Amino acid sequence: MTTLAIKGGAPVRTNPFPAYQVIGEEEKKEVLRVMDSGILSRYLGCWHDDFYGGPEVQRLEKEWAGYFGVKHAMAVNSATSGLYCAVGAIGIEPGDEMIVSPYTMSASATAALIYNAIPVFADIEEDCFCLDPASVESRITPKTRAIMAVDIFGQPYNADLINALAKKHGLYVIEDCAQAPGATYKKKHAGTLADIGVFSLNYHKHIHCGEGGVVVTDNDELAERVRLIRNHAEAVLDGKKSPKEHLVNMIGFNFRMPEIEAAITRCQLRKLDGLIKERQTNCFYLAERLGQIPAIEPPVVREGCSHVFYVHGFKFQEKIAGVSRDLFIQAVRAELPYTMLRKDEGPLLGAGYVKPLYLQPMYQHRIAYGNHGYPFSESSVSYHKGVCPVTERMYEKEFFNHEMMRPGMTREDLDDVARAFEKVWECRAFL
Ligand SMILES: *Cc1c(COP(=O)(O)O)cnc(C)c1O
Repeated sequence: MTTLAIKGGAPVRTNPFPAYQVIGEEEKKEVLRVMDSGILSRYLGCWHDDFYGGPEVQRLEKEWAGYFGVKHAMAVNSATSGLYCAVGAIGIEPGDEMIVSPYTMSASATAALIYNAIPVFADIEEDCFCLDPASVESRITPKTRAIMAVDIFGQPYNADLINALAKKHGLYVIEDCAQAPGATYKKKHAGTLADIGVFSLNYHKHIHCGEGGVVVTDNDELAERVRLIRNHAEAVLDGKKSPKEHLVNMIGFNFRMPEIEAAITRCQLRKLDGLIKERQTNCFYLAERLGQIPAIEPPVVREGCSHVFYVHGFKFQEKIAGVSRDLFIQAVRAELPYTMLRKDEGPLLGAGYVKPLYLQPMYQHRIAYGNHGYPFSESSVSYHKGVCPVTERMYEKEFFNHEMMRPGMTREDLDDVARAFEKVWECRAFL
């Protein structure tokens, strides 16, 4: 008889899974070339040719814009910085509301708070986990200024419906495409579906340079405002023709990407297509295998879209399984090894993704700037439990995801992942 590893039996596999290692000889060569040039960054925080950054940054921006078919690309030192630039650039006012999903990385929402604007959380779609257009519509008030649409898990947001709502109500849409480089929506790239898009280059993402990000837009004015916020706007405006026109949200930052990261990113961009193809092949294979288990629903790909699977997300139906998702996933984890380079995390399989953002202490206690509740004290927006019931159900009961499908995994490796799920399914009565 088979014994589950969680009950003391032999696990399906103990030998670690291969690393997702996308940094190679090309990157090493480029890093050395930049080191030899002696220019590790060439920004000047004043009105000057070097206000726009050094040669590698500018080359990267041209190549990035070309690949994604967009007029402007601006490199920054993280997607978080990029989101701050984007929200500042649209001219958001203190007290304005920005509608955002609670099922995302926290910076998608703090990008509003940094300008003293208020994140308003709308619920997500049952199938694709992106912002639900009907819920977004129900959150629109006279104070709404923008919608932050996140391409969560690598799938583009519902651009037709969300963009139509924005148009009808005169709102900006910002696309957080940190998890979706290379995904498409009706042949257009994720990141270019909204007024402005923000990519991430941190080491969890499809391609990376350590830490970095890129902001894209077709709008000349937004692009220039992003460049200003990135690089000490307030100190630069004196050199501009009509400084008064540009004053809104021009407290600048230093969000500049260094030359070495730009050079690495240029190499990484050339690898993106291949990395996505391999990832998709692995995901479709595993979805097919795991989808045979009656309680497991593989990811839905939105019609007309390609999904790039930042993580591979499934739904689990406790009623069909007769055991809870958490216990089931815990048992599968016990069957599987860690992945090289991320040993401390154990098996790259988890239940729930992130806690709905409004349940974080900052929103629950309504304390952000100082100790008197600003800017929440100016708003009656609710962050109570129950605000987004679909998100809460996904977090608490249904959703799980894994990353054991990234390029580098062989067919045998994927089979071990599937076998772990199958074994726990067959033995679930013993849990
Ligand atoms: C990773 C991520 C970010 C932040 O990216 P950084 O480059 O680490 O700042 C923002 N939004 C989403 C959805 C992300 O996944």
